[in-house]
This record gives sequence, C-alpha cells and structure tokens, in this order.
Amino acid sequence: MGSIPFAHMISVQEALEAIQCEVTPRKSELLAVDRALDFVLNEDIVSDQDVPQRDQSIVDGYAVRSSDFAIRGLQPEGSVVELEIVEEVTAGQVPTCEVQAGRTVRVMTGVAIPRGADAVVMTEQVDVLDEPGIPLGVARFNTKSVKEGQNVMPRGTSLVRGQGVLVAGTRLRSADIGLLAQMGREEVRVVSKPTLAVLPTGDELVAPGLLPGPGKIRNSNGPMLIACGRQLGLDVTDLGIGRDEPEVLRQMIECGLQADVLILSGGVSAGTRDFVPQVLEDLGVRTIFHKVRVKPGKPLWFGKAGNARQTLVFGLPGNPVSSFVCFHLFVNSALKKMGGESLDHASLPTATLTDRFDRVGDRAVYHPAQLFWNPQGPMLKCVRWQGSADLRALSEANALAVFPPSTVAYEAKARVAFLPLD
Ligand code: AMP
Ligand code: MG
Repeated sequence: MGSIPFAHMISVQEALEAIQCEVTPRKSELLAVDRALDFVLNEDIVSDQDVPQRDQSIVDGYAVRSSDFAIRGLQPEGSVVELEIVEEVTAGQVPTCEVQAGRTVRVMTGVAIPRGADAVVMTEQVDVLDEPGIPLGVARFNTKSVKEGQNVMPRGTSLVRGQGVLVAGTRLRSADIGLLAQMGREEVRVVSKPTLAVLPTGDELVAPGLLPGPGKIRNSNGPMLIACGRQLGLDVTDLGIGRDEPEVLRQMIECGLQADVLILSGGVSAGTRDFVPQVLEDLGVRTIFHKVRVKPGKPLWFGKAGNARQTLVFGLPGNPVSSFVCFHLFVNSALKKMGGESLDHASLPTATLTDRFDRVGDRAVYHPAQLFWNPQGPMLKCVRWQGSADLRALSEANALAVFPPSTVAYEAKARVAFLPLD
C-alpha cells in the first residue's frame, strides 16, 4: 500500500492493517527440537505410531483375568481371591507367560498386558504370601470386584498412526516439544525469527547507571524495549543512545537497518529537534504512516526501508508508556506475522470493568489495568495513571484495557477488551 498522508490521522485498525500489508512472513528453517521452544511450527506433524503401541498397564500391579473374580465374587462373605504369581515384568521387558485361570503376572506401569489377562489390580490392593514350591508367591487380593479393562490403556487410545498431532502455525510450548520427541523427531521445521535493533534517541538521555544532571533523564525505553524483544525470544541488538543530531542519527540508523526490524524511540513528535522521520526518509525508508488515533502513542511513525532486508522501522514516541503500548500493539503485530502467527485484534479477550471510565474521546485508549478473577469471571480495574510518562502505573498493570473512541463514558460492569501483559 502507498503512503498515508500525514494530515489524515488513521485509526488503530487502519494502522494495524497497513502494518500487516507490509509484512511478509519469514522463511523457514530446520531446527533441533530441543532448541525449538517458542518457535512457530512450519509443518504439520503426523503421528508415526499408535500411542500406546500395545495394551498397557497404567499402574504397578497384577495382571489378572476378570473372570477369576466374577466366579469368586459369588462365594460366601469373607472369602478372598488368591492367584499364583507366575512372572514379574518390569519396565523395558515384555511378558512371556500367558495368564491362565488361577494365575497372575506382576506388571509395572507401562508394560504390555500379558496374553490372557484383561485387567490389572493395583499393588496397594494385594498382599503377597510365601508358598513353598511357588517361587514368586501367591497374590491375595483385597478386592472382590475387578472390571474387564480396569487399569488398562488400550493400544492407540492416545494417538493412532497417521493422526494429525500439531499443525503449522502452532507456537511450540514445552508439552509440544515432548510430543515431538514422542513422535521420534530430532529436528523440526519452524519459521525463522526476525532480528531486532533498538535505538532510543534524545539529547536528554543518560545511561541508567548515571545520576541525571539538570534537564537530563535516564534512558528507560532502551532496556524496556530490548526486554520486550527478548521476551519474544528474539535476537536484539542494543544500538546505544542516539542524539538529536541528524548526522549522528543517520550513522546509528544505518547500523540499525542491518536488522529485520528497527525500533527507535523519541524524536518523532512535533518538537524542533525531532529529526527522526526526516533522517529515515533521507536514508530511503519510505513513510507508511505517521500518527495514529491512539492514546498513548499518537506520534507513532512506521516505514519500510528499500534495502535488501526490507527492514521495517517503527519510530515510537519517547514517553515510556507510549513506547510500551506501541510495541505491544503495533510492533508485536508485525513480529507475529513475520513469525507465521496472526494477531487478531477483533477477537481480543474481554472482561468486566470494575469502575466507570470517562476519559474517552476520538482516540482509542489503551489504559494500564489489573486483570483478576472473581466468581463472576474476569474483571478489569484501571490502575491510577498519570499519563504517558507514568511508568510506575504500567509496572502495576498486567493488562491494557482497550477503550475504542467514544463520546460517552464506559460504565462500571461494561464488557471491555484487553491485551494481556506478562
Ligand atoms: P520525544 O518523543 O522525543 O518528544 O520524547 C517525549 C518524552 O519522552 C520526553 O519527555 C522525553 O524526555 C521522554 N523520553 C524520550 N526518550 C526516552 C527514553 N529513552 N527513556 C525515557 N524517557 C524518554
Ligand atoms: Mg526527544
């Protein structure tokens, strides 16, 4: 899509659509399964076997014929079932004996049910008696009723060979890594992750380790945005602090254009030394949009470089909460699509508002909030927030409550969407 004229301040939805238009999903790579956590799968995985591969015991116990109990169960009160133990099968072994009437085989969890048996009684319900001439002894069962199939997991009840297990587009979690290992996979095809570079800009910024002098503040956006990228498992380059000097910015931005995504903060508003958009244009980064009807985050700038990587460039507003919200809302949507996932803002989760919210207007508000559960379900309580510079409020929040533009207040008990934060 072409550039959107500056005069027209676009909506959040329009901005998200413009970003999605510019993003092409990344190529895939083959990765060792033990390194694939949090990557997005780029192939469908089909089971190479029945799981379990045989009827197996789900407890440590005694494999029996349930009919032995059906007959004895009719006998007088107080009588117990006693069966001769003919074999013990431990993990990794296979049974060799058939269980005939009056006999039992001691089995451990996960071993195959011996031929002839159709149920397993757990060890805790059995006493073993020594009997001369019977090497493994006699099992006395402290239970009369044994159901056919009890404690048996039949072959293929978890998965059958050829059954779909995981689909392309799935972000791999630890359980999925286990499942891939169970399927015999050592390598798996995943979507490659983009590289990220972060460049905070501003003459007022000093490194966090320094005491800010008059007019100076600590650079909090740099570490925060790097952390946002690392949280997504991305390789992030810290470009240091850029100054409000076109030549300095030019050199640092050139470095940043070696990444797939460059994130700048500061210098995109209407200040006399806000040079970022101009320097970007001079370096051949095409403006796609500048300014969005969102609060916080209005001065957001987005463009795409003409280099081989087609680097996506986000100029985030300098105020820390604006930077953070723009990362979660806009940068994240680009990273998700690059990584093969889609981020559907139309289907965000919703929760019930605890209190009336009247700071509404023609911009969508993303307000730091606490999400919690009460017996009625998920609830959202907006935290006390002094605006885009109030990072403390953000640290107290675990969600951003979403208030689309409105001329009337959102009343308590209204259902509102939220973006979860972690
Ligand atoms: P700007 O977008 O450059 O006009 O900056 C807006 C506000 O955010 C100013 O008050 C800046 O001092 C502040 N700011 C800019 N960059 C940072 C940063 N890296 N860390 C913390 N605050 C910042
Ligand atoms: Mg600035």
